[in-house]
Amino acid sequence: MQTTITADRRQRIDALGYDYAAQPREFLTTCNLCGGSSLVVLTYRDRYGYAAQADACRTCGLAFLNPRMTAEAYGHFYQGIYRPLVSAFHGRLIDAETIQAEQQEYAIDRASFARPFVERAGLETMLDIGGSTGVVARHFAATFGLAGTVIDPAPLEVAHARRYGLETITGLVEEHDFGSQRFDLVLICQTVDHLLDVTGTLRRVRELLTPRGLLLIDIVDFRAAYLRNWSVEDAIKIDHPYYLTEETMSAYLRRAGFAVVRTAYAADHLHVTYLCRNADPDPSARPAASAVDALFREIRFVQNAPR
Ligand SMILES: [Zn+2]
Repeated sequence: MQTTITADRRQRIDALGYDYAAQPREFLTTCNLCGGSSLVVLTYRDRYGYAAQADACRTCGLAFLNPRMTAEAYGHFYQGIYRPLVSAFHGRLIDAETIQAEQQEYAIDRASFARPFVERAGLETMLDIGGSTGVVARHFAATFGLAGTVIDPAPLEVAHARRYGLETITGLVEEHDFGSQRFDLVLICQTVDHLLDVTGTLRRVRELLTPRGLLLIDIVDFRAAYLRNWSVEDAIKIDHPYYLTEETMSAYLRRAGFAVVRTAYAADHLHVTYLCRNADPDPSARPAASAVDALFREIRFVQNAPR
């Protein structure tokens, strides 16, 4: 099933004048999770109506935009397109100011999920990757007595985070030199789907964690997203290079050297959150072939079943 974009939404998105087709893009020939090279094209447009193609790896089921914008094109996208585009999609203003109430609620929810493992664990330092305006980092820092650092590529949002007394870095975790600095808690909240290299980032995070360190990470569950609107196209958006499932995220974590200690299906039924500790990396971890077959079967069913 492919839902049509309503005329008023179409008009709001067109009014932005963003020419997605003209952006520099790169084509991926291998899977970022398993290295597999057998790819299946799933869709030809995203929820905004842009001609964004998504592929899935036949070996492990990882779904991702392909081709996808270059790092530089994404840099430009986050400077001025991303928030206005999401605002146009929803028909209401979403910016660094308006997202704060929502982020506060999110922060309270995730902190209570992590509390049994973080409280009294003697943790002192925290890094929030893609920490945006710092609302989540501030709440974790205050609740658990942590010294917090936010790293994010968007200068406006980082400026917000600085006002909360957090240490801030404008940049990308894969590129920033942390020297000998290590962290007891790393947050990757509503961010992993936006990364360009999930494997590289998780490896980097594993290096940045202290031996007692914990990682809190969440995904938009791709299956939940397409089942919600019964449309694979509606689950695809140019802001998300990656579309993770419980199976692919679990394999990513095991490969990078993380063991999940607690999982939560969020109240929105869309996000899945994981709290992880260090473990030995399992470089061959991948979803079971039966799970991958079931995923492709389900996608075909959603695309073709009568409503
Ligand atoms: Zn794969």
